[in-house]
Amino acid sequence: AVRTRFAPSPTGFLHLGGARTALFSWAFARHHGGTFVLRIEDTDVERSTPEAVQAILDGMQWLALEHDEGPFYQMRRMDRYREVLAGMLAAGTAYQCYCTPGEIEAMRERARAGGRKPRYDGTWRPEPGKTLPPVPEGRKPVLRFRNPPDGEVSWNDLVKGPITIANAELDDLIIARPDGTPTYNFCVVVDDWDMGITHVIRGDDHVNNTPRQINILQALGATLPEYGHVPMILGPDGEKLSKRHGAVSVMQYDEQGYLPEAMINYLARLGWSHGDDEIFSRAQLVEWFDTRNLSKSAAQWDPKKLNWVNAHYIKQSAADELAARVAPRIARRGGSAEGVDLAAVMGLLKERAETLEQLADDAMLFCGAFDPAAIPAELAAQHLTDAARAMLRDFAGQAADLEWTRENIAALMKATLAKYGVKMPALGIPLRVAVIGRAQTPAIDAVLALIGREKVLARLHAI
Ligand code: GLU
Repeated sequence: AVRTRFAPSPTGFLHLGGARTALFSWAFARHHGGTFVLRIEDTDVERSTPEAVQAILDGMQWLALEHDEGPFYQMRRMDRYREVLAGMLAAGTAYQCYCTPGEIEAMRERARAGGRKPRYDGTWRPEPGKTLPPVPEGRKPVLRFRNPPDGEVSWNDLVKGPITIANAELDDLIIARPDGTPTYNFCVVVDDWDMGITHVIRGDDHVNNTPRQINILQALGATLPEYGHVPMILGPDGEKLSKRHGAVSVMQYDEQGYLPEAMINYLARLGWSHGDDEIFSRAQLVEWFDTRNLSKSAAQWDPKKLNWVNAHYIKQSAADELAARVAPRIARRGGSAEGVDLAAVMGLLKERAETLEQLADDAMLFCGAFDPAAIPAELAAQHLTDAARAMLRDFAGQAADLEWTRENIAALMKATLAKYGVKMPALGIPLRVAVIGRAQTPAIDAVLALIGREKVLARLHAI
């Protein structure tokens, strides 16, 4: 059975690249009816924080990337790592190395001076018939993995295709520090092994770790998982995506009014495709997901396309669902939806909105307190001329006993146009400016109907 994992290091928030990796691992597991494991790689105690763990969990929850097992925390698995380290030492697949950092540095210098790749010279590596140096007193050793001296490591990468690395290129990796704590690559190996991971899908910044991890897994007698390394995400300028390009934490996209469904759809298309399909549901993604359709080349972050996708999901959302999502944003703006048919407002606005924040801004037309004094002076000067005021007052008089429906309002507007011999903008724009303080709004008859007769008349009389 397929078992995948997402293994973030909790040193910041859940960023877009991480979310996309998680999405691919999740979709692959779901497609195969497998298990998706969440593992928190918190061994970098200097940089890992509980807040970052929470931010990752929040991001995963917002995107509804549910894990089936975990979260497992590496810091709680130290006994297990030590046990495996002891086993490797006993089996001779790891050995103690007493070189000081100074000695290692000198080795590197010598290699560089000789034009060779800096590497460990094998001083403490046991070989048949070799006598090791005497153990320096009082010095604590690191543990090194006894990398195979020759041959090569190969795997068929799910994304990049066949990759082969000569063992001669690989050092005897340090797997435990002098204080006995295991190092990064070692923990990943033990976890992937213990957790029965069958498919490792991760960013291609880890591709150099893979041959080392494969060698250690082989030394442990573990079944190898398959590996797929996804290319990174570039910013619109072609540079690696970073904070410079705007929000990089997925939760910032929540704040900015993106729907998690839209985010999932958009992230999936960053480096994965299914024919020409741009819009697909989560269920379709799961049904279609195949690592063969993961792209070998870097994907480019495109804020315009994200907005387009988000606008699509807003449009197809039910009005009452949007109302529920936008209400807290209106409250944050000091507005109130009391006495306002917010679902009807959403129905009117959703055709043109790219984000929930925009919807909330526009909904303030209906939910915010209106102050006639707040009409921008230049709009008033341009559109609330004496003639326009007279027409608006007349309109207000006629509207006083109108049954307040969009159709009736439209009919009254038409009658007013005929009476004054003017075209629609000559009435429509002054109406908007007087009632809302803006020259542009969605269909004004619909807006007036939703604002309600009392407020509309009060505002018209106040100008
Ligand atoms: N913890 C690593 C990271 O956040 C991922 C390790 C892996 O997927 O193997 O970059």
